[in-house]
Amino acid sequence: MADQANDSRRTLVAGNWKMHHDHLQAIRTVQELGLRLDPVDLKRVEVAVLPPFTDLRSVQTVLEDRSIPVVLGAQHCHDRDSGAFTGEVAAPMLARLGVRYVLAGHSERRLLFGQDDAQVGAALRAVLRHGMVPVLCVGETAEEREAGRTEERLSDQVAAAVQGLAEEQVAGMVVAYEPVWAIGTGATATAADAQAACAHVRGRLAAAASGDAAASARILYGGSVNAENTAELVGGPDVDGVLVGGASLEAASLAGIVAAAATVRPAARR
Ligand code: PEP
Repeated sequence: MADQANDSRRTLVAGNWKMHHDHLQAIRTVQELGLRLDPVDLKRVEVAVLPPFTDLRSVQTVLEDRSIPVVLGAQHCHDRDSGAFTGEVAAPMLARLGVRYVLAGHSERRLLFGQDDAQVGAALRAVLRHGMVPVLCVGETAEEREAGRTEERLSDQVAAAVQGLAEEQVAGMVVAYEPVWAIGTGATATAADAQAACAHVRGRLAAAASGDAAASARILYGGSVNAENTAELVGGPDVDGVLVGGASLEAASLAGIVAAAATVRPAARR
């Protein structure tokens, strides 16, 4: 079986901790995660945690000091590099902390904090400008799904965010398909629906950049993922991993998801 270690589409399991875990809880969680992750699984699966801003420095230190093979991510950033933006965090600040992945346009930022497509696109470009990898979050609401507008919504969100990016920028990015109705609800998309939506997103990336760029980009599914449904979801040929909220908070649960993702043969994703 081919090893995906050098594959641009190596499976990614990313844990979005949202506004959970203070820095002491975060330290304990990554320490335990380091003990629970199986090195064999990590040849196939890249693992990232996205803690709250106040935890980043502590988590970075623990990961480095203990050589824990987990990558650091952040949940949001402003599009400007500095300025009078009270309460915001700039991309260069995250880059200095060794952050690799930054979410752009998580549905909670869009719906609860009014982030629009233009702001998402600007933040995504800030992430790229500072050498990090954007994780563009897209997904339809329950109303849009019921109205048969899922693909239209995904097309609009992807186009607004990636239009004008260089091919290599698209090739290196991550998109997370996260149906809003599935986030934190326990209502997971079927594997077939997740695959269809991720394939649609890849088609939109191809239209905006090129087929080669789209074939290299990673597309994740997110929305009530757990250790039981991961393997089936990641079995879709266009589903390159999962973005996990609630089930990523406990080390045992996140490690279970990683182990499940590692059972999927790379060939099943081609
Ligand atoms: C998320 O917030 O990105 C998410 C997928 O949450 P949950 O796994 O809890 O549905």
